[in-house]
Amino acid sequence: MNKILVTGGAGYIGSHTVLLLIKAGYDIVIFDNFCNSSSESIRRVEKLVDKKIDLIEGDIRSTEDLQRAFDTYNIDSVIHFAGLKAVGESVEQPLNYYDNNVNGTVTLCEVMARNGCKKIIFSSSATVYGDPATTPILESFPTSATNPYGRSKLMIEEILRDLYISDKEWKIVLLRYFNPVGADSSGTIGEDPNGIPNNLMPFIAQTAVGKREYLSVFGDDYDTIDGTGVRDYIHVVDLAQGHLNAVERIDNFDEVMTINLGTGRGYSVLEMVKAFEKASGKRVPYKIAPRRAGDIATCFADPSYAKEVLDWEAQKGIEEMCQDSWRWQSNNPDGYRSESSNI
Ligand code: NAD
Ligand code: UDP
Repeated sequence: MNKILVTGGAGYIGSHTVLLLIKAGYDIVIFDNFCNSSSESIRRVEKLVDKKIDLIEGDIRSTEDLQRAFDTYNIDSVIHFAGLKAVGESVEQPLNYYDNNVNGTVTLCEVMARNGCKKIIFSSSATVYGDPATTPILESFPTSATNPYGRSKLMIEEILRDLYISDKEWKIVLLRYFNPVGADSSGTIGEDPNGIPNNLMPFIAQTAVGKREYLSVFGDDYDTIDGTGVRDYIHVVDLAQGHLNAVERIDNFDEVMTINLGTGRGYSVLEMVKAFEKASGKRVPYKIAPRRAGDIATCFADPSYAKEVLDWEAQKGIEEMCQDSWRWQSNNPDGYRSESSNI
């Protein structure tokens, strides 16, 4: 049976996608160097599916590591999550970000082509829309980047489009994620950021569990319903399902597909705080802080193209996102390092 290579499959979105893929009967192999994850996520997915998961420990920048995967397995397509994703870090370490994300993807595509594997689903981001003139955001909106992370995503999108122009046998899907949050309802896998979280949801969750004293709300003077930033939060399980729909349909596509994966609804920071307090029964103390450099007021998707071409739409609302985040956070206060003998 042909396999799907899942780069970055031990990470947050990757592990949830791997779980759904296996549940749906796909044969997969994870390729990860664990630079931002641990093998514990794989062990927990194995427990959920009661099955051993194939793994190649390697770096997408290494031709040898990738070739080992193609030599070992009959790989038919790739879902490419591997990459670095912290905006602030990307400003401090631009070369590391371009090397990991851009060079890594070029190396991956070279090895794929050499092995006759020409199907790739790539993790892009709503960050490629920069500061959009209007919302909801359509795929046709102009793109721009304000930091090396976003620029690496834009560069990769362009590289993959050029690759298709050079060889129409390639099947390429660029999925632009909005703000993934939540966790599998088992509460055994979830988002496990290193150190102090940059993103809102893990910060709220860690505040609710008592690991952080209070949340800093970055700005309350935006032109939004309550002055705080508005984003399109999407449940990670819905996001994972979008990948399955793309895998099912990729053979039918005869152009590079660029697709938003969002809910089409925006919520403010304070709305998220309130929803989390309700779901967890805990207080989330917060203080208003200055705006964060580079943040925009409002960002949410027009998800109608995903409905049209992937027959996909988000099913889960913010209540479920908060409940599932809370289940993961409260069962695993220290993420995958938590002691949880019964998991
Ligand atoms: P994550 O850090 O949890 O997962 C990424 C995985 O890739 C990790 O397991 C890491 O160890 C691995 N990895 C990184 N560099 C590698 C390399 N050179 N070789 C092999 N493995 C490597 O991140 P995530 O949130 O699951 O994000 C997955 C993808 O989705 C990323 O490409 C990210 O940029 C993109 N994305 C994420 C978000 C988000 O908010 N989480 C939003 C939009 C897009
Ligand atoms: N945010 C915040 N405090 C935090 C982290 C984030 O107020 O500690 C706000 C941020 O300004 C934005 C929203 O929460 O309005 C989502 O931020 P996140 O970093 O999660 O996603 P992104 O900025 O990439 O959309």
